[in-house]
Amino acid sequence: MKFRNFKMVDYVVYGRGCFDQLDEIIAPKRMSGAPMVFLLDHHFQNDEVFKARIPLRDNDELIIADVTYEPKTSYVDEIAIGLKNKFGQVSGIVGIGGGSVMDLAKATAIMMTNDGLAQDYQGYDLVRKRAVYKVGIPTISGTGAEVSRTCVLTGPTKKLGMNSDFTPFDQIILDPALIKGVPKNQNFYTGMDCYIHCVESLDGTFLNMFSESYGQKALQMCQDIYLKKDIWDDNSDEQLMMASYAGGMSIAYSQVGVAHAVSYGLSYLLGTKHGLGNCIVFNHLQEFYPKGVEEFHRMVDKHQIEIPKGVCANLSEKDFETMIDVSMGMKLLWENALGTNWEEKMTRTRLRMLFEKL
Ligand code: NAD
Ligand code: ZN
Repeated sequence: MKFRNFKMVDYVVYGRGCFDQLDEIIAPKRMSGAPMVFLLDHHFQNDEVFKARIPLRDNDELIIADVTYEPKTSYVDEIAIGLKNKFGQVSGIVGIGGGSVMDLAKATAIMMTNDGLAQDYQGYDLVRKRAVYKVGIPTISGTGAEVSRTCVLTGPTKKLGMNSDFTPFDQIILDPALIKGVPKNQNFYTGMDCYIHCVESLDGTFLNMFSESYGQKALQMCQDIYLKKDIWDDNSDEQLMMASYAGGMSIAYSQVGVAHAVSYGLSYLLGTKHGLGNCIVFNHLQEFYPKGVEEFHRMVDKHQIEIPKGVCANLSEKDFETMIDVSMGMKLLWENALGTNWEEKMTRTRLRMLFEKL
């Protein structure tokens, strides 16, 4: 038996208000003439108070990241090529935003040092050279992108991350004050991404005590904030931020499962966002995760969230085939969920029936 030896984030700072330590933290990483680049979620583009707290110095660059759509490889190339043309080299990339901006920051940092196009590195361990210094600062919590070894990108032929030892951030800054006020639906969809990570990890065949210890704690925090508590307070933000971190750590050593495998198919074809897509799928997964889905339904009811239905109603035969191909390609996820003989259990016909239910 060979155990995975995985690269983790190097430095973590956690605490309400710790965002203001950013200047001091990145100072030793600044190289003469090479700017620090801040990728800021477009949600903050007109928030002058927040922007004034970003420690821009000398020729530093602030880029407003458009996350209307989840990050595409072409967008990563556009930013990285633009920076190379303008500055030659940069001191680092700081991503401030939700999972989309964090993934964009990781991918851009990789493309500052690796040749070719971002699409060339979609896959496992394809990145050859160490990325430039990179920092992740979540402003929504749930995806676990702050700790993961991947950055999910939609390319010309696939939706797949750059999964490598060079992908995790060098530094993350976890300031629960930054996620205050995320709109209810968005908070729920991204929070449920974390909840689903936990259910899929804890129920998976890859589970070990490393994953279980993080997964159980994260699951309990999700249950606290989405089921037990009646008001959303500062402590809820603190719990959600740490649940996201712990949920990410849980799947680092295990894997996600059926909801993610199916939702990848959906988002590849329809562009459905990750958190929402997972909710749409998980809503119908009683046969795989009975307890988790029952609890999820109670959370949906309690928070009066609308989960879209009928999203596959008008799709063509070809569309279904495309979704099934993408979903079936997520072999590790299926293996984690259903075991090594998953192909006997999850046939194309069964998967088609599942898509039709959505
Ligand atoms: P997101 O980053 O796509 O952002 C959703 C929306 O919230 C955007 O409109 C954004 O502008 C806005 N927003 C950001 N911060 C806000 C704030 N503080 N207040 C109000 N609005 C705010 O959403 P997400 O769910 O965090 O991330 C989803 C992305 O993460 C997908 O691209 C998915 O593929 C990726 N992902 C990555 C991993 C990984 O391991 N790398 C894991 C899961 C998901
Ligand atoms: Zn997820």
